[in-house]
Amino acid sequence: AKGRGRNAYQPYNRGLSERAERRNAVERALRAALDAGSFELHFQPQAWLDGRGVVRAEALLRDRGGLLAGLSPAEFIPVAEECGLIEPLGEWVLAEACRQARAWADSGLPLLPIAINLSPVQFRRGDIAERVAQALAKVGLGGEWLEIEMTESLVMRDIDSTAHTLHQLKALGVRLAIDDFGTSYSSLSSLRHLPLDRLKIDRSFVRALPGAAADAGLVQAIVDMARALGLQTVAEGVETREQHDFLRAIGCNQYQGYWLAPPCDATAFARWLDRPAK
Ligand code: C2E
Ligand code: CA
Ligand code: CA
Ligand code: CA
Repeated sequence: AKGRGRNAYQPYNRGLSERAERRNAVERALRAALDAGSFELHFQPQAWLDGRGVVRAEALLRDRGGLLAGLSPAEFIPVAEECGLIEPLGEWVLAEACRQARAWADSGLPLLPIAINLSPVQFRRGDIAERVAQALAKVGLGGEWLEIEMTESLVMRDIDSTAHTLHQLKALGVRLAIDDFGTSYSSLSSLRHLPLDRLKIDRSFVRALPGAAADAGLVQAIVDMARALGLQTVAEGVETREQHDFLRAIGCNQYQGYWLAPPCDATAFARWLDRPAK
C-alpha cells in the first residue's frame, strides 16, 4: 500500500516540477527578449459592422525570432506578471504603440487609433495615467489616438481606485474598453458609473454563433445592455460570414477576427491605413 501511495504521488510531483521548469524557461526567454529587443507589435484591424471600414488597430505582442517566437502572449504574459517583467514589457508596449503611430503619421498615412492591452499589474501601480500621458507627450500625439483594453475582472475588482484611474485616463482623451466582456461578473451600476467607451464581447460567446441559441441570446443581451448604457460593442474572434452577419443584424457595432484579418506586422498593417473608411 505504501509503494502504491508513493507511485500515485509521482505523476503529480512530476507535473509540478515540469510546470516550474517551463515557467523558468519562459522567464529566461522573456529576459533575453527584453535584453535583445526582439519584441515587436503586430496589429489587427477592428472594423464597423455596417461597412464603414476599419476603425482602429489592436496591438498584440510578438517575439520576433527570439526564444518566445511562436508562443502566444496568452502563455508568456502571465509569467511576466508573476516575475515582475510585465512592468518593463508593458512600458515597452505603450512606448512602441506611440512610436509606431508617430511613424505612420510622419510617413503621411491617415492614422487610426491603436488599442493596447494593459495588465492588471500595470494598473495597480497607480501611476498608469501619468505614464500614458508621458508616452503620448514624447511623440506629440493626443490621447484620442490611444485606446486601452483591460479585462473585466480588473475593472470590477477594487472598483473605487479603478474608477479614479479610469477618470484620469479619460481626461487625457484616451478611449477605454473592457476586454473579454462576459467572462467575469460586472454589476450594471458599476458599468454605468465608469467612463467607458466600449465592451469587447469575448470570443467564447462568438465562437458558436449564430447556431447556438443560448450564446445568441447572451450576445444580444450584451449588445442591448451596452446600447442602453451608451457604450459601443466590439465582437472578438469573428471567423465566419455567418457570425459577421448575425452580429450586424443584432446591432453590434464593430468586429475583429480572422474573417476580416489576422494580426500582421506594422508594414503589412499600413495597407489598412491607406484604405479610407467609407
Ligand atoms: P486578447 O486581448 O483577447 O487578444 C485577442 C487574441 O485573439 C489575440 O491572440 C488574437 O491574435 C486572437 N484572435 C484574433 N482574431 C481571432 C479569431 O478570429 N479567432 C481566434 N481563434 N483568435 C483570434 P494573441 O495575440 O495570441 O494574444 C493573446 C492574449 O495575450 C490577448 O488576448 C491578451 O490578453 C494578451 N496580450 C497580447 N498582447 C498583449 C500586450 O501587449 N500586453 C498585455 N498585457 N497582454 C497582451
Ligand atoms: Ca485585447
Ligand atoms: Ca479580448
Ligand atoms: Ca480573449
